[in-house]
Amino acid sequence: MPQLTFIYCPHCATALIEKEIHDVRRLFCPECQYVHYPQPKLVALVVIEYEEKLLLLKRNIEPARGLWNFCGGYIELGETVQEAVIREAKEEANIDIQLDKLIGIYGGEEGSNVVAAFHAQLPGNQISHLAIQAEEVSEFAFFAWEELPPLAFPVHYQILRDWKAIKL
Ligand SMILES: [Zn+2]
Repeated sequence: MPQLTFIYCPHCATALIEKEIHDVRRLFCPECQYVHYPQPKLVALVVIEYEEKLLLLKRNIEPARGLWNFCGGYIELGETVQEAVIREAKEEANIDIQLDKLIGIYGGEEGSNVVAAFHAQLPGNQISHLAIQAEEVSEFAFFAWEELPPLAFPVHYQILRDWKAIKL
């Protein structure tokens, strides 16, 4: 069970109390009746391939600093999951991509993020555009499937296994 994190009501700043609502203990505001429902965050990422190699970015932030991951990030309010991942690819690597497949939806257990993983083929005309934009990334590189570097999170390995299975 993830931690209940708020101390004060995010709407009216009254101290929240714990209250049982439909058999679950929730944080509740006695002033405005706000109920805090903890929910997982949604992350979208994209496995980008170019000539059978994977584009990976090296993380420059904790957790997993120095390990490699895919373009991606949190969904902003008001954008679709697909728009978010296209935006992240632009922000992190300066490339315009089109998504071709949803690989799968992962995570959620023990309070982890929910991850939506897509696949995209990098158009050849984007290669010269590739550049690190975001502070969270220190470098990018293409890797052959047989020589992948250490990936940042276990779910990344699962996503690649699933993509291989879809691809075949
Ligand atoms: Zn309140």
